Parts: sequence; C-alpha cells; structure tokens
Amino acid sequence: MNEEKTVLIVEDEKNIVDILRYNLQKEKYRTLEAYDGEDGLNKARSEQPDLILLDVMLPKMNGFDVCRLLREEGDNVPIIILTAREEEEDKVKGLETGADDYITKPFSMRELIARVGANIRRTAMSAPAAATAADSAMPVAGDLSINTDSHQVFRGGRTIDLTQREYELLTFLASRPNKVFSRVDLMEQVWNYGYVGDDVRTVDVTVRRLREKIEEDPANPQFILTRRGAGYYFAVN
Ligand code: CA
Repeated sequence: MNEEKTVLIVEDEKNIVDILRYNLQKEKYRTLEAYDGEDGLNKARSEQPDLILLDVMLPKMNGFDVCRLLREEGDNVPIIILTAREEEEDKVKGLETGADDYITKPFSMRELIARVGANIRRTAMSAPAAATAADSAMPVAGDLSINTDSHQVFRGGRTIDLTQREYELLTFLASRPNKVFSRVDLMEQVWNYGYVGDDVRTVDVTVRRLREKIEEDPANPQFILTRRGAGYYFAVN
C-alpha cells in the first residue's frame, strides 16, 4: 500500500535525513530529499509527492515560505512541519502558513511514522473538471456543497481550495450536523491521534483557517460554530 506513496524530506541536517529515509523506506515509502528550501520547493512542484516533511530553518528559503508558496499555488499536499522544541511559536505559525501538522524535534520515529500515515491521503483523488464536479456535488448547507468523490468543496459554484486536513475536518463535522465535538474528540477522530496535549491548539488553528476559506464573515461564522466550553459543530437549521 505504502509503496506507491512518496514522502519528500526537506531538511538540511544530513543525519536527520538519513534517519528519516531509513525509517520511511522500512515502512515502504518512497523518499525524495532536498537540503535547502529552494530545492524543496522545486521538488515539491516537479515530483508531486504524497507528503512533505518540512524543516523550518533551511538554507536559501525557510520552511514557512516554502509552505506558503505551495499553498498559494493551490498545492494541497499534506505538509508536516518539523520544529525545534524551544520554538513554541513555530507550531502555530506553521499551521497558519497552511501546514497540516507539526512535530517537534527531537521526535520519536514511531510518532513521526504514525503522523505520516495519519496525514497521507488514503483515497486516491480523481480529478474531474471542476464544472462537472460542481454539478454532482451534494449540497451541505446554504450554498456550500461537497463532492466526496472528487474531494472538492464549492461555494456558490466556486471551488474552494482546502488542505486535506481542512477537508477532513469539514466533512467530519458536516456529516454529523449540529453535533458538538470537543477539541479532544476531533483530535482523536479527525487527526487519528491516540493521544492529546498541547496539540489541541491544532484544532483551533485549523478551524480558524477553514472559516476564513468557507465563511462569508469568518468572525460571524454560519457553518462551523463554537459551543463555548464544549467544542465545535456544523450548524444546519
Ligand atoms: Ca534546519
């Protein structure tokens, strides 16, 4: 199953690349390497990997800029940022630039492999023409619709670019309308993590980014609402 999946490692510390390559290949992933940000960006564009492990401090271009540029180009590849433990702010910053996840160094290889698996797209995405897909999209609420075959989201016929994680969060909530889920619930069920901690902030940042993309007025959302002290839910009248 994994042998068709390619992971691009963008990291300038050769010993970390070596350990990552060894362990990913052991899990039957194909690996690509880049030792600076520019090369990482070029390989992401030309090789279309299934997931990118992206260091922050890199020569030529930092990881945040690589991530931001890829997202601006509409590339929704799952991206896991590798941050140094002491740089707490990097986690939130990474998520805000469009990364799906982060992992702090030094990381356990077991945890990293689990996160790679959890972040890699499991369903092969077909790519029908947007217009055709919009026609067969199922309406969810208001003028928001989701095509679960093509993994595309539309608002008023316009395609909305979501990262894989944003898409999964939206479809998870939308398929269970008006049911409130705590951040811990969402971490376990959407992120597939069997543990939680500070990581629940990931949920908040992802909800905020999702609102900015799908809501008319992100400050007064109509789709994804907060039940204070309880969690988030997808509102359907
Ligand atoms: Ca580095």
